[in-house]
Amino acid sequence: MRLDKYPKYDLTFPGPTPIQHLKRLSDALGGNVQLYAKREDCNSGLAFGGNKTRKLEYIIPDALEGGYDTLVSIGGVQSNQTRQVAAVAAHLGLKCVLVQENWVNYHDAVYDRVGNIELSRILGAECRLDKAGFDIGIRPSWEQAMEDVKKGGGKPFPIPAGCSEHPKGGLGFVAFAEEVRKQEEELGFKFDYIVVCAVTGSTMAGMVVGFAADGRANRVIGIDASAKPEKTRAQVLRIAKNTAELVEVGREITEEDIVLDTRFGGPEYGLPNDGTMEAIRLCARTEGVLTDPVYEGKSMDGMIQMVRNGEFPEGSKVLYAHLGGVPALSAYSYLFREG
Ligand SMILES: *Cc1c(COP(=O)(O)O)cnc(C)c1O
Repeated sequence: MRLDKYPKYDLTFPGPTPIQHLKRLSDALGGNVQLYAKREDCNSGLAFGGNKTRKLEYIIPDALEGGYDTLVSIGGVQSNQTRQVAAVAAHLGLKCVLVQENWVNYHDAVYDRVGNIELSRILGAECRLDKAGFDIGIRPSWEQAMEDVKKGGGKPFPIPAGCSEHPKGGLGFVAFAEEVRKQEEELGFKFDYIVVCAVTGSTMAGMVVGFAADGRANRVIGIDASAKPEKTRAQVLRIAKNTAELVEVGREITEEDIVLDTRFGGPEYGLPNDGTMEAIRLCARTEGVLTDPVYEGKSMDGMIQMVRNGEFPEGSKVLYAHLGGVPALSAYSYLFREG
């Protein structure tokens, strides 16, 4: 594995992100499986951080080396990605243009004013609201934003949705797997499964490659939150193949390596189902740990239901990758009006 040959710009706190035993949640689910969380949601002091901040550590060196002056990115109105790009741009003294599309069929009264988009505006980013619907691919509105920066004399650096179409978008979560391996040495045990939310795909893809290095590629269980799982699965596979080549993992990544559970992502991207809501409340009330209705509430629900169904063998140790997303909660205040 050759991750070191790629330059990394530190945007997260020094040292590994903490791994925390979710003891009360494990007990509440019968105690036969022990759940742990790796806290990517607390990985940085830059506007709450999250999984995109870890990915950006391997993308930003290209922006700095190339002398770009404006980071351009895209996501939904409540995108965590664009908020993290806005924070990184501010931190580096770069400008930031964000295309915020209408990815979610949800209209809380202040949906476009609170949460992530509020933070991005405070961070000084130009937020362009666009009517286009949910799609994880490359969009015309985004190309338009690139053009506009150029017309204004700037040099735009494109960062695609979720960092995922960027060739180096998977490297950050290869680093995550390396970090887990070191932490496992200290803990004195290895995790049997790693649960991770997947939408644009490079988080899971990076993990699949990182854990392929010790034979655990198919122990990474992706929980789809896109509700368009075939697109997400194809994207995870493509990014994992590409990332495996970049880091010379020594074998090809194939379809069998990609375990994507499609049961928990409905009804649509950005909309929680009853299980999502119950999982958010159960994790919050047993552990004091918050998750969101778009991403982590869905992967938390998947993990909880799999424990309840006995899908993990007794005695398993499961690592939940908590990828962030809590800043979106205030945009869903109506759903939680009674707790
Ligand atoms: C972006 C995001 C995800 C999904 O990660 P992908 O790499 O896009 O699959 C999951 N959780 C949170 C909180 C996110 O912001």
